[in-house]
Amino acid sequence: MKIKRRDFLKASVATGAAVALSGGLTLNAFANGKDQKTGSGGTEPGKWIPSTCQGCTQWCPCEFFVQNSRAVKVRGNQLSKVNLGYVCPRGHLMLQELYDPDRVKVPMKRTNPKKGRNVDPKFVPISWDEALGIVADKILELRKNNEPHKFMFIRGRYSPKTYPLAYGTLPKIIGSPNAISHSAICAEAEKFGPFYTEGFWGYRDYDLARTKCLVVWGCDPLSSNRNVPNTINKIGDLIERGTLITVDPRLSAIAAKSHEWVPVKPGEDGALATALAHVILTKGLWSKEFVGDFKDGKNQFKSGKSVDEAVFAEKHTHGLVKWWNIELKDRTPEWAEKVCGISKDQIVRIARTMAKAAPNVAVWMGPGPVMSPRGAYPSFAIHALNGLLGACESEGGSLRNHAKSPSGKLPSIDDFLDDMAKKYGKEKKIDQRGYKQFPSISEGKAGSSVITNNAATGILNADPYDIKVVVSNWANFNFSCTGADRWDKAMSKVFYVHIGTNPAEAAMFADIVLPAAHHATQKLSIIDNKGNTYTHLSIQQPVVGRLWEEKADETEIMWMIAEKLGAKGFPNMINYFKSFKDPETGKTPTNAEEFALIATRIISAAVWKPEKPLKGDKLTSWEDFKAKGIYNSEGYKFRELWEKGFPTPTKKFEFYSEALKKALDDHAKKHQTTIDDILQASGYLAKGEQAFVPHYEPPKRWGDVKEYPFTFIDYKSRLNREGRSQNTTWFQEFKKVDAGDESWDDVVRINPEDGKKLGIKTGDMVKLTSVTGSITVKAKFWEGVRPGTVSKCYGQGHWAYGKIAAKEFGKTPRGGNNNDLMPDDYERLTGSTARNGGFTAVKIEKI
Ligand code: SF4
Repeated sequence: MKIKRRDFLKASVATGAAVALSGGLTLNAFANGKDQKTGSGGTEPGKWIPSTCQGCTQWCPCEFFVQNSRAVKVRGNQLSKVNLGYVCPRGHLMLQELYDPDRVKVPMKRTNPKKGRNVDPKFVPISWDEALGIVADKILELRKNNEPHKFMFIRGRYSPKTYPLAYGTLPKIIGSPNAISHSAICAEAEKFGPFYTEGFWGYRDYDLARTKCLVVWGCDPLSSNRNVPNTINKIGDLIERGTLITVDPRLSAIAAKSHEWVPVKPGEDGALATALAHVILTKGLWSKEFVGDFKDGKNQFKSGKSVDEAVFAEKHTHGLVKWWNIELKDRTPEWAEKVCGISKDQIVRIARTMAKAAPNVAVWMGPGPVMSPRGAYPSFAIHALNGLLGACESEGGSLRNHAKSPSGKLPSIDDFLDDMAKKYGKEKKIDQRGYKQFPSISEGKAGSSVITNNAATGILNADPYDIKVVVSNWANFNFSCTGADRWDKAMSKVFYVHIGTNPAEAAMFADIVLPAAHHATQKLSIIDNKGNTYTHLSIQQPVVGRLWEEKADETEIMWMIAEKLGAKGFPNMINYFKSFKDPETGKTPTNAEEFALIATRIISAAVWKPEKPLKGDKLTSWEDFKAKGIYNSEGYKFRELWEKGFPTPTKKFEFYSEALKKALDDHAKKHQTTIDDILQASGYLAKGEQAFVPHYEPPKRWGDVKEYPFTFIDYKSRLNREGRSQNTTWFQEFKKVDAGDESWDDVVRINPEDGKKLGIKTGDMVKLTSVTGSITVKAKFWEGVRPGTVSKCYGQGHWAYGKIAAKEFGKTPRGGNNNDLMPDDYERLTGSTARNGGFTAVKIEKI
């Protein structure tokens, strides 16, 4: 795909043209900003100012070139060891996000009490003072009526070190347990396997510089989450040096570059993973160094035959022979071929290739195989392959034990919680975590992980109670959650305060809209993350001034709400914020801007004013940190956990998970039942000991094969900033960089064999219908999907994100939103929203 200069020109022209378009709803309030302070750009001298991209959970340290107070160019932070001075294509879209003429510019109040899609909220601009007065009154009314728990805070995209000031403070200090993060609509299920094998609940990193075989499974790290700049940077060498294998039912960008594309049937990844493990064991290819060996050195793993546990001596793992006996002995490649559609020869070849490269092999698991109703077990099975091959914590392998980024602690909130806050903060949560059918056992504890999307159902059914007031920051669940119409209904029931940069589908249901500063360019906060074997602490700082009346969501707006609550007789939150002390001067904040600055300095002082010398970068002062924008940790200590032990009950890498057994047992006891009953209620088929080992579970499918013959695949664009970039002309003009997609359009890819049978051709408009909804998009023949499957990129289908994203603002979307097709269902051991794994079936009709 070539991008020509003409494309850039066309995109720029389109910006101007689109601003003039009239839409289905009035946008008058959005256009009422004053004193727009934009510079001319041009050839004048400027300077690079560091900040951090927030387009996805990689949070790449970056820099903006600023001329005449205007940001004109983006690149990665040149000092970063994580992204090595690069951003991915999505990083560049920040410029158009920042200067989007459709941004929310002033606080607004709804004047139309009726709520619904295509209903004009009839927003009118109001002052910050009036807006926050209304918000404070609503919160205080809950407290007056002894129902503070009926408040809910939604956290969308956030700054990892600064979010406690909003998400961790506002609900808590009021007395609500309902701090609901967006996490479970993204990728939580992929953390299940790493946690229940090696005690790590988080995203892994991969030592790509030394990998000899990379197996990318159900994600596309050249396009989206995670480590995208580093992967783009390293993939060429890796392809020359070793073997790149991609397991994905569709031909993704990375699949197209791979030595082997493994187009597994959607949702059948567990069959492939267990068959690979079977081959690795029967052919004697496992890591003797990490896993151990038979005491007499003779391989007794024979298909269909159990093995005596006593004859195998494990080293750094636990339960290999149990896993074999309970599950693997029958998972032959011949069996898997029939189930997952990959030939037995290819399965054996891949297993041998992986083992030959081991331990310099990494299985990079993404959401594809796991964000599905039974996805926890494929997550377990796929990650277990890293253990089997000794790739965990090894050079060239799958990593998690990074050096820590030091950061300062915020003052404790505990002294500021009154009796009401303490009492009602212990109420059940609206997302129903911990219910019998929702074990949500992140980090080994039942009822501990958020079930984001189910909060809408909780609100609609008033179960466990009704929610009356909702505040969200940087979230748009009415667009980004499956079963999106439930959020329309839920937000119609409550008083809703939307904090964001853009008009959004959720904002159309808001009673108050508050304009947020753009994260990377107008906000002060601290981020930590890891990648490329390093950890970093980086700054987000204003690189340009405010354009309208926007404020920073996690700091300034929270201070202003706290002040208003204090003025109306509830001073706990403002007293808490006033307890913050600057780490150098001891000064306490007196206004929102000072609060943002002091909080940021407290969090980051550990790297620029360390108590003892750090092993990573040496920074001399706050000014030095601001100028460089980043602290890089020392390098990775490989195999440290092999010596120290993994944080699991046995201190080993668990193929038979004692941690999972305990978590399920605790949940079963709480509900006075058996583990089998819990699993059945949660939609799994495992029985007995099978529940504690990686095993095959057939996929769940919404839609009868006769009526809905096609399996639907949802995936992310190379330009998708989590659904927030669609109002930029660069997104729309360059949409064709997603192989098979078309600029300014939305296509469903259909295998030509299927298309011909249906009597349709490329360019026809088709209606896709699932059991829950329909969307209309353009058909495109594409050999990069298996017959029987169709794939469509997530991102288009906005009807109210701005005049570019929609065909007609507030009325006609550009293409269709996949979430209008996909029913709300869950991977219930992690609380994850089902998005992948072939759980949605559709029919296709030409219109
Ligand atoms: S969008 Fe790209 S540049 Fe931005 S944080 Fe994510 S990977 Fe990094």
